[in-house]
Amino acid sequence: MPTSSIPFNRSSLAGRELEYITQTIANGQIAGDQAFSRKCQALLEQALGVKRALVTTSCTHALEMAALLLDLQPGDEVIVPAFTFVSSANAFVLRGARPVFCDVRADTLNLDEAKLAALLTPRTKAIVPVHYAGVACEMDAINALAAPRGIAVVEDNAHGLFGKYQGRWLGTLGTLAAQSFHETKNITCGEGGALLINDPRFAERAEIIREKGTDRARFFRGQIDKYSWVDLGSSYVMSDVLAAFLYGQLELWPGIQEKRRTIWQRYQQALSVWAAARQIRTPVVPAHCEQAWHMFYLLLPSLAARTALVAHLKARGILAVFHYLPLHLSAYARRWGGKIGDCPVTEDISDRLLRLPFFNAMTEDQQAQVIAALLEFNPSPSP
Ligand SMILES: *Cc1c(COP(=O)(O)O)cnc(C)c1O
Repeated sequence: MPTSSIPFNRSSLAGRELEYITQTIANGQIAGDQAFSRKCQALLEQALGVKRALVTTSCTHALEMAALLLDLQPGDEVIVPAFTFVSSANAFVLRGARPVFCDVRADTLNLDEAKLAALLTPRTKAIVPVHYAGVACEMDAINALAAPRGIAVVEDNAHGLFGKYQGRWLGTLGTLAAQSFHETKNITCGEGGALLINDPRFAERAEIIREKGTDRARFFRGQIDKYSWVDLGSSYVMSDVLAAFLYGQLELWPGIQEKRRTIWQRYQQALSVWAAARQIRTPVVPAHCEQAWHMFYLLLPSLAARTALVAHLKARGILAVFHYLPLHLSAYARRWGGKIGDCPVTEDISDRLLRLPFFNAMTEDQQAQVIAALLEFNPSPSP
């Protein structure tokens, strides 16, 4: 029997989160756009060199804001990877857009830029690259297709905060980018997100959309003497209680990333020989990508091998989990005619991918237990 159980993820305090929350309450500032929200935004703007950052209630909501900012209309098309979280597509579908699913590359599991050109039509309004596991998509190739056609690029950077592509920060390479601070992400406040605005044309309208379609942000800055309803919008403002928690983590981001780098590299060093001998693949990180250390996954040789490994780990008190199901084959997306064979790489890897326990407070001892359990595992040879 296992001596202890090791979760897939467990959130933890990084530093002064509780002290900062107490401060917001003591100051009587717990709604949105107060001191800690502004600190989070200033930190993101400075660290990344992004024109404007707005903290939001979630990454999903930041993507919804992007869809509103781009004025998506029924019938417009948005290209999203078939291997991603539902929000990468749903945020645009809410505006009536049609998601067009693009397969992913077999190496990085990112949107396959080589398959993009064939999916472009005169109705394509946006492309949504997802930097899977915090490893960059081929942004130069994606932007080279999008820019001359006036197509917006919205980075779903939920995994990629503080990762880089060709020396440039992820989240600064598209027209807009969405961040997540959900508890499963490197830096968290439980539920939260941010919209990064790289094209300054969108900055003022983004504030309005985030504030229920009103110009309240300008009113708070004293630029107008009353605020009113001026555009579409919703309630996408993060509470300052959560922003206080978030700032407690964000201000320590280099240390958090360093911890995660150590965990990731320990997995890689301990498992590479074992994996190679068993037709198990570890993550591919191209030399021009500095990853964000979000995830360590294994690609097993088959679904049967993955099922066996999950059971093997579970018997030892270790929780490892699979990831996205092919989005084009989901019950909801079938209405757009998705069928088996449309995105063969996604369909293949989705059955074989397994994510290992990985969280900021993971101890060396916990990781040693996971590694020891893996090294004991031999998938039965494929027939
Ligand atoms: C986590 C995640 C989201 C959604 O984030 P929320 O903050 O929970 O809305 C979107 N896209 C990807 C790729 C994610 O991993």
